[in-house]
Amino acid sequence: MDVVITGSGMSDGFKALKLYNTLTRRDEEFVPLDPANVRMYVCGPTVYDFAHIGNARPVIVFDVLFRLLRQLYGDDHVTYVRNITDVDDKINARALRDFGEDITAGRLTLNEAIRRVTERTAAQFHADVAALGCLAPTHEPRATEFVLPRTDGKADMASLIQTLIDRGHAYAAKGEILFDTASMPDYGQLSKRRLEDQQAGARVAVDPHKRNPSDFVLWKESSAEEPGWEGRFTFEGKPLVIRGRPGWHIECSAMSAAYLGEVFDIHGGGLDLIFPHHENEIAQSRCAHGTPVMANYWLHNGFVQVEGKKMAKSEGNFVTIHDLLATENFGGRKWPGEVLRLAILMTHYREPLDFSLRKLEEAEAVLDGWYRVVGDAKHQEGDSGAVRRALLDDLGTPAAITVLHDLRAQAARGSEAAKADLKANAVLLGLLTQSQDQWFSGKAADAAIDEAAVEERVAARLSLLRAKNFPEADRIREELSGRGIQLMDYKDPETGERRTKWEVKR
Ligand SMILES: [Zn+2]
Repeated sequence: MDVVITGSGMSDGFKALKLYNTLTRRDEEFVPLDPANVRMYVCGPTVYDFAHIGNARPVIVFDVLFRLLRQLYGDDHVTYVRNITDVDDKINARALRDFGEDITAGRLTLNEAIRRVTERTAAQFHADVAALGCLAPTHEPRATEFVLPRTDGKADMASLIQTLIDRGHAYAAKGEILFDTASMPDYGQLSKRRLEDQQAGARVAVDPHKRNPSDFVLWKESSAEEPGWEGRFTFEGKPLVIRGRPGWHIECSAMSAAYLGEVFDIHGGGLDLIFPHHENEIAQSRCAHGTPVMANYWLHNGFVQVEGKKMAKSEGNFVTIHDLLATENFGGRKWPGEVLRLAILMTHYREPLDFSLRKLEEAEAVLDGWYRVVGDAKHQEGDSGAVRRALLDDLGTPAAITVLHDLRAQAARGSEAAKADLKANAVLLGLLTQSQDQWFSGKAADAAIDEAAVEERVAARLSLLRAKNFPEADRIREELSGRGIQLMDYKDPETGERRTKWEVKR
């Protein structure tokens, strides 16, 4: 089957998509297994808490790749799978924290509480990434639906584990079924960690039930209080039933096989997933299916820092997508999703990204400029070849953004064609998807000051001042100042009491 290049870019001549492949540590020309069905898997969120800005990056980066592949091969010829991890000990802990009383009082079972946590978190995640302008993936399977054999015959974790047992890649010990890394001669190819190095370098005492320190859990016994599934396995003809739960890695091996087959084109995720998660996905899938690779191209996005520091709750720089979109916690104001998206795409996906207030301000000023010139141009009328060419070079988003700056300059000089091209090219990055009106009125609504809320804060500060709690009073002044609200104290001419006026200074 021939590669179908859609859109109006044919006149530019064919240029191949080049991607940096972590598996080979090289730039490679992308050749899909089947151009009629290009297949990509990206590891999705573990749903127990708000997604942070580090989680946003892979979702946005692989959304750009999804859009590019759709343009190259056709909208109906790309399958993108991103899973939801809804079984994890962090989820159990969150369910106990938030619903502990209901569970103790018998109003909820642990499983019901877990479902509440995962459903509300998944809904929040969907709202967040939609606001970031990300298309929904083709399939979004939930891990809990792929633990045991399914009626539709799609791949599942328990059957995959049984295959690994049958092929001599797994053993049982202390209520666990473990993957035997020594059974795979080329284990460690993706992360370039050799098994011998790991053994020699193992300073931490090895779990005595593991044959090798790098062996990892496929299935783990659950206590009576923990969620569990009836796992029925067979070892050398003897049945072994363990009420338990799957290890983390096995879910991606099962769900990718369920929707994309035993070998597929692209597997993506953050750099931090290379080891152990992706290494172990590869081990499971290749050993179960007897294939030389799991996916042909492995793509990883770089780390995210906030204001030059590693993001951590203890640093006070832990920023969730929700914080940015809906609260004034970062920079004293809300930020449109499109600003966050552009701020992330300004850095090439493989580079470390420093997320900062300055970067958001810069991205917003850029978008204001673009929206100001596009007017009511329709993207269907423009040519998106310029941004496509930039993205063909390993998703070169910084170069793509430079292209958009040039088009803006031409549009500002009155070129109608440049306006339409600006819009068409930006849409390939998932930007300029709103009308000019929607953009500016949306921002105005976000910037609107809730006067009653300000009055309340001002009154609270005055009562703190009367109580001589100056640090707290100053904190409120700072908080309001961060939102562009300036306070001026004065004496009431009649009573001599302290009063406060305020005004907005942006
Ligand atoms: Zn995964």
